[in-house]
Amino acid sequence: MLIGERESSTAPRSTPPDARAPLPSSPPRLALCELLLRTDDVPALLRGTLDWMSEHIGVSRALAFAIDPEARRTFAPTAAGLDDDAAAFELDLRDPDDPLVEVLRQVRPIYFAPEAAPTGPLGGVAFHAIPLHAHDDRPSPAAGLLLAPARGPELDREVAWCARMLGKKLGRLGARQAFARGGPRRERRVLYCALDAVPDPVLVTDGDGRMILSNAHADRLLATVEGASEGRCRAVAMNNMLLSAAISSRVVGHGHDDGRAEVPLVDPDDGSDLLFELMLRPIDDASEGRCVVSVLRNVTDLGRAHAEVEVSYGKLRSAEAEVSAERRRLKLIIDSVADPIIATDPAGDIVFMNGPAATLFLPGRRADKAARRRVAANDAHFSSFVSSLLFSDGDQTLRGELTLIAPATGEALPMEAVAGKIVGGRGDLDAVVTILHDRREALERARLYAQLETASQELAARVQAATAELVEQNEVLRRQRLAVEQASAAKSQFLANVSHELRTPLNAILGYAQMLREGIGGPLAPLQHKYLTRVDANSQHLLAIINECLDITRIEAGRMPVQRGPVDVVEVVREVVAELEPIVARAGLPIQLALPARAPTLRSDRQKVKQIVLNLVSNALKFTHAGHIRITVANDAASRRVSVAVADTGIGIAPEDHERVFEDFRQVDSSLTRAYAGTGLGLGICRRLAALLGGRITLESEPGRGSTFTLQLPLRPHRSAPRRSAARGGTP
Ligand code: ADP
Repeated sequence: MLIGERESSTAPRSTPPDARAPLPSSPPRLALCELLLRTDDVPALLRGTLDWMSEHIGVSRALAFAIDPEARRTFAPTAAGLDDDAAAFELDLRDPDDPLVEVLRQVRPIYFAPEAAPTGPLGGVAFHAIPLHAHDDRPSPAAGLLLAPARGPELDREVAWCARMLGKKLGRLGARQAFARGGPRRERRVLYCALDAVPDPVLVTDGDGRMILSNAHADRLLATVEGASEGRCRAVAMNNMLLSAAISSRVVGHGHDDGRAEVPLVDPDDGSDLLFELMLRPIDDASEGRCVVSVLRNVTDLGRAHAEVEVSYGKLRSAEAEVSAERRRLKLIIDSVADPIIATDPAGDIVFMNGPAATLFLPGRRADKAARRRVAANDAHFSSFVSSLLFSDGDQTLRGELTLIAPATGEALPMEAVAGKIVGGRGDLDAVVTILHDRREALERARLYAQLETASQELAARVQAATAELVEQNEVLRRQRLAVEQASAAKSQFLANVSHELRTPLNAILGYAQMLREGIGGPLAPLQHKYLTRVDANSQHLLAIINECLDITRIEAGRMPVQRGPVDVVEVVREVVAELEPIVARAGLPIQLALPARAPTLRSDRQKVKQIVLNLVSNALKFTHAGHIRITVANDAASRRVSVAVADTGIGIAPEDHERVFEDFRQVDSSLTRAYAGTGLGLGICRRLAALLGGRITLESEPGRGSTFTLQLPLRPHRSAPRRSAARGGTP
C-alpha cells in the first residue's frame, strides 16, 4: 500500500527528472560514465554509483538494488551511509501492496513525505523512490530501484541523471542476461531473424556446394515452395545453376578469397533480369568442415545506372568533341576573315580577337614605345565605341566609324565598325561582338571615282568640242569633195572633148597618110614611103593613147557601156595570140597555152575581156627578153569563176610596186631615159574594166623572176556591177 494520499502535500508525488540543466558546480559526470562503461558487474556498478553520488553531489545516504525479472527477485542491495540491515534489504516483488513494488511499475520517481514514508531501509525520513528504467521515453520493466533522501518534493537533477544512467546500464545488462538464458534454440532463432533482417541474400554452402543455410532473401531467389508456378521453378533452377557455377569458379579458380564477382540472376516473381555482386568468405566449421558464406548484393539498379552513366558519358564526350571541333572550325573561319573581329564581355574587357584584330590591339613582342602607345590609343578608341552600345538599353546593334592607328607604321586606319549584343538564354548580356572593316580601299575607290568623273566630264567637253570641229571640217571636206567632183567632171569632160577633138584630125592624118602610101596621090619615092610609114606608126600610137584617155574618162564618168553576151574565153585567148603573132615573131618568144578541153562560156562583155587579155599579153611580151610566155585558162567551179593567168619570165616587179603599177600614168621606170615605151594607163584601165565586169586582176611577181597577172571573172555577172569602184580604178 502506498504511503499517504496522492492529493496531500505529503503524499508521494511524481517528480519530473531534470537532468539536462547543467549543475552550478559541474560535478564530473564523465567519471560516472567511465565507471558504467568499465564494468558489467551489477554490485560494482551500484556501489560505484552510490560512491559517486556521495562524493560529488552530496547524497551520502542512499540505497539501490537490481531486479532479476526471470527470478522475480531483487538482488545486489547496496547501501551508502545506512546500517547493515539496509545492505541486506530485499523487496518482495510478489507483494502488490508494497508501495515500493508499486513504484517499480511507474515511469517517474515517487516522493515519499516523512510522515508517509514506509518503514524501510532509509528509516522515517522523506525520500525519493526512483525506478531504474532502461528507456526514458517508453515503459519497460524496471531494472532496479534507487532510494535517496529528499530535501523536498523536487528531485535533485543530478540524482535524476545518476538514476537515468544507472537504469540504462542495468537495462542493457538485464536484456543480455535474458538473451543468454534463452539457450541455443533462442540464440538460433534470433540469429535466423537477424539473418533474415539482412537486406541482401545470404547463404552458406558446404564443401560440396550444397546449401546448408540461407536467409529469406536468398530463398526468394533460390528456393521454391510446393505448388509454385512452372516459370518460377525454372527461374529458381537457373538461379541455382548460375550461382553454384559462380561460387565454384571463384572457389576453385581463385582459392578461398573474399573477392567479388558479378552474377546475373532472374527474378522468379516477374522474370526480370537482376544483377548481383557476389561476395564470398570461406569459414572453417568444426562440424561442417570448410564452408563458404556468400552474400549477394543487388546491383541491378547500380548496373543500369552505370550503363546509363556510361551512355551519358559517351554522349557527353561526343558532344564535347563536337563542340570543340565546332569551336576549332569557328576559330579557323574567324581567323581567316580578313576583317578584325573582337568579342568583349559585359564589363567591356576584350575576351577574344582574331589575328587581324590582334595586330591592332596587342603590342607585338618587338613593339617599341611608339607602337605600344598606338595600341593603347586603339584600345581607348575601341572601348569608348563599345561602351556606347553597352550603356544603351534598347539598341542591339551599333554601326559607326572610328579611326585607329596601325601600331607598326602609325598610318591612320579609318574603320567602319558594326557591333552586336550576344544575349544568353536567360536574357542576360553575354558579350558584344564587333567587326571592323578597313575603309581605306573604299575611300580610295571613292577618290578615284571622283577623279574619274571629273576626267570623264572634261573628256565629254573635249569630245563635244572635237565633234563640233569635226562637223565643221566635214562640212569643209564635203564642200571640197563637191569642188573636186566638179573639177573631175570638168576634167573628164575636158579630156573627152579634147580626145574627141584630137581624134578627128588624127583620123584625117591617118586617112591621108594611108592614101599617100597607097599611091593615090601619085607614086612615092622610097624615102617618102619610109617617112609616111613613120607618120602612120606614130599617128597609130597617138590614137591608142587618145583612146586610152578616152576610156578612162568614160569609165570615171560612168559612161562606159557594157554589152553582155556569151563569151568563150579560150576563143578570146586564141584570137589575142593570133593578133599578136607579128609581135611574137619579132620578139622570138614562144607562147605556151594551157587551155581546158571544155571551154567555159561566160556571160560578159567580150570586147572588154579581149581588151584586158590583149593588154596583159602585150605587157608580157614587152617586159620579157628571154624565156617564154604562158597563158592558162582555168575554171573554178567552187567559186564559179574563170581565170586567165598570163605568166612571163621577164624582168618582174618589186613587191612595193605591185599596187602602184595599177595606178594611172604609173610606170616602174619613170625616168626620162626609160627603156620601155608606154603611157602607164594600160593596167589602170584593165583593173577598172575587170571591176566593171564583176571580176578582178591579181599580181604575183618578183624582180628578175617574171610576173603572173591573173584575170578572174565570174561565170555570171553580179546583180549590180561595182561601178563606183571601177570608176576609181580600185581593187574590187
Ligand atoms: P605601160 O603603157 O607603161 O605598159 P601599163 O599600165 O600597162 O603601162 O604598165 C605600167 C607599168 O607596169 C609598166 O610601165 C611596167 O613598168 C610595169 N609592167 C606591166 N606589165 C609588166 C610585166 N609583164 N613585166 C614587168 N613589168 C610590167
